[in-house]
Amino acid sequence: MFHVKHTPHILLINPWITDFAAYNLWVKPLGLLNIASLLKANGFRITLIDCLDFSVRRREYRDGKFYKINIDKPIPLKSVRRNYSQYGIPVEMLLEKLSFIESADLIAFTSGMTYWYPGVFKLIDISKKFFKGVPIILGGIYATLCYEHAKKYSGADVVFKGGNEWDAIKLISESIKFPIPHSALRIDLLPYPAFDLYPQLDYICIATSKGCPFRCTYCASHFLSRGFTRRDPFKVVDEIEYWTTQYPVHNIAFYDDALLVEPSRHINPILNEVIKRGLQCNFHAPNGLHVREINKEIGDLLFRSGFKTIRLGFETSNKATQIETGSKVGNLDFQNAVKCLKRAGYRGEEIGVYIMVGLPGQRVEEAEESIAFIKETGAKPILVEYSPIPNTPLFEKAKEMSSYDIEHEPLFHNNSILPCQWDGFTLSDFKRLKEELRKG
Ligand code: SF4
Repeated sequence: MFHVKHTPHILLINPWITDFAAYNLWVKPLGLLNIASLLKANGFRITLIDCLDFSVRRREYRDGKFYKINIDKPIPLKSVRRNYSQYGIPVEMLLEKLSFIESADLIAFTSGMTYWYPGVFKLIDISKKFFKGVPIILGGIYATLCYEHAKKYSGADVVFKGGNEWDAIKLISESIKFPIPHSALRIDLLPYPAFDLYPQLDYICIATSKGCPFRCTYCASHFLSRGFTRRDPFKVVDEIEYWTTQYPVHNIAFYDDALLVEPSRHINPILNEVIKRGLQCNFHAPNGLHVREINKEIGDLLFRSGFKTIRLGFETSNKATQIETGSKVGNLDFQNAVKCLKRAGYRGEEIGVYIMVGLPGQRVEEAEESIAFIKETGAKPILVEYSPIPNTPLFEKAKEMSSYDIEHEPLFHNNSILPCQWDGFTLSDFKRLKEELRKG
């Protein structure tokens, strides 16, 4: 443990992505930014390095491609015949940024997908060389889902498993023996995420809730965020108003897992208030919206309030798979949702529908049927390759079905290799489906 007497300085780092493919769909490290704002409110000095804050070729709504360089594939992925890249700021720029930082009392890393850990490890290694002896904490999704792996191999002094932002700042304050005066705050009293730490801000993300009341068997939401809590709808709109009037922010992505659940108590008042206050902003739902909740009223509100990116979490039209994986949606709900969205004003191609492919034991015919079913409604199918996630019920089946050692090597969770491919659904099948969709 370290004892800090002066104003403590914490360096927060969001590492690179290392993968075969990555796209900036309004990516921001929201959890890390919440920790930053809580630390600031408790007297800490913060420096943020977001390695993913470096995109090229932005599109109209400020999503776009990350800058990338090709790097060597990690040994377990050597046989994959695709380029492997490091996405985000160039190394030289990172080193320059680090060289301007005099010292830090502690460095805290977040982490994303389990199979992105090479970028995390590389940055931990660089940081250790730059800031000799400074304690390093690693948290985030990879650290939580693959705790033992992270403890063994990451090089971090402490791996933080799950918990909320408040637990994280308690750990930081205890690690450097700098007591914090405040106690845990209710969700509505938390300060806004520290987007002000960015030199340039043209989009933000927002979470109006934590967790999800559903239990889909392939999803770790329940493990990553215990319970389901929501913010006061009017306080959410206050935050939207703040960022869109105090900063040049014209695009906001909702990061909620369950934005539309119980709409009359949550999304309806939020969107009605956005319209009433005349807030002009493009909204996006990259995580997928709950199909079952979409009716005429919600379709209209989404359209009128400025939702530009609509993504529906449908996954499959196969009734047996729908039931086996958690019954979050049925085919009639889906057809009704698309009808309501179209009536509200969306064109079919603006309604993106996620289909999960490569589930353990899934046949290619199921994906083909789902695509045809979605196309019949006029909406746009989007294939999402299944990634086996530890601590989910489906992970056990994936372990049995996969020819990769997904239990011990998180790199094999990478959805690009279709970890649960088998004779009934091969990687070539997947490429064919993708190509057919591309051609329209
Ligand atoms: S997939 Fe969506 S609905 Fe299902 S548990 Fe995860 S966040 Fe909830």
